[in-house]
Amino acid sequence: MRLVKLRRATEPSASLAPAHVSVNGSVDLVDRTERRVRYLRISLLDRCNYRCTYCMPDEPMEFGSRDEVLRLEEVVTLAAAFARWGVDRVRLTGGEPTLRRGLVDLVGNLSALRTEGGGPLQVVMTTNAERLEPLVGPLRSAGLHGLTISLDSLDPERFARITRRGNLVNVLAGLDAAASAGFDHVKLNTVAIKGFNDHELAALAQFAWARGVTPRFIEQMPMGGGATFMPGEMMTAQEVRAAVADGLGAVVVPDEGDGVRGRGPASYWRVESGPWAGRRLGTIGALTENFCASCNRLRVSATGQLHGCLARDETGDLRAALRGGQVGDVERVVQRVLVTKRDAHAFGLDGRGGPRKAMMSIGG
Ligand code: SAM
Ligand code: SF4
Repeated sequence: MRLVKLRRATEPSASLAPAHVSVNGSVDLVDRTERRVRYLRISLLDRCNYRCTYCMPDEPMEFGSRDEVLRLEEVVTLAAAFARWGVDRVRLTGGEPTLRRGLVDLVGNLSALRTEGGGPLQVVMTTNAERLEPLVGPLRSAGLHGLTISLDSLDPERFARITRRGNLVNVLAGLDAAASAGFDHVKLNTVAIKGFNDHELAALAQFAWARGVTPRFIEQMPMGGGATFMPGEMMTAQEVRAAVADGLGAVVVPDEGDGVRGRGPASYWRVESGPWAGRRLGTIGALTENFCASCNRLRVSATGQLHGCLARDETGDLRAALRGGQVGDVERVVQRVLVTKRDAHAFGLDGRGGPRKAMMSIGG
């Protein structure tokens, strides 16, 4: 049987020595184009219980050893340093973060950190929600601020087809538990795909709104060298808004200006008429409504590689700096990544211009 080796952004050669370099220095988290980093996404592992068609190939995967993955105390050390340097929100992602043992304690430890301004660090998470329901209460009590749940179809057969492994009943139970748990916000992420869920987008929005959840629709991105990208299936953010408006029989207008931007890449839109008037939806036009100019984030992969950009393969090796480096090495890695952070991605509608790394290795 052929094993697919999950492509990580780099294959680090760091020493696996347990020694920990403390991170006491300071970094001004501003890049060459004056973008200030306030948001850090941390992938907790590159494994997943699903095999979503746009994210991963459906073949047995060969993962790296456990030692390659950052330990939870290393995650806290890094988050504490970034919080001191100006980051005020951390998103936990994966692979699938709910598969990581010690998740609840990790959320507790991260939520106890203080930002540069002295306030609490906001900790949020993105999950496929398959294993979420029993975790919702403990995660909320540990201080998790918000959740984003990924769901591409409300039809059990289509859901099983896109996730290749998922159980819709479990996901809906997780979503309902999250919606009623008192989080600051719960969002629903849907990758919009022509000929697959385009006719379901309005229903997904209504489903979310009925639970006080904000729906967001994402343009499919050509990751992994374009291996899982189907140009003919990709729906633009504009097509998504038209499909939602059509399905609702209503008009969808910019929430403000050209669609007000949240803290992240989504622009927000409002239903103007009909029974859902006033409800908001987000669209993430990664390819057609480029938001690189306002990018405020860095990403740490499960193996401790610091990525300046989701769509590029350049990284800095934080794990090596933490485990085998000298005092000041972590700061130097961060500074180097900031200096080389690109102005914009090169995603093309034909699937070219994306990175070699898999989405699953970095977590969106
Ligand atoms: N496993 C978790 C989940 O699915 O929510 C977290 C990791 S997943 C990589 C994060 C987000 O990336 C999900 O909302 C998923 O739908 C999205 N995603 C994955 N591959 C994508 C692609 N090629 N284009 C656009 N979004 C993608
Ligand atoms: Fe797993 Fe999330 Fe990728 Fe789906 S999108 S395969 S749930 S990491």
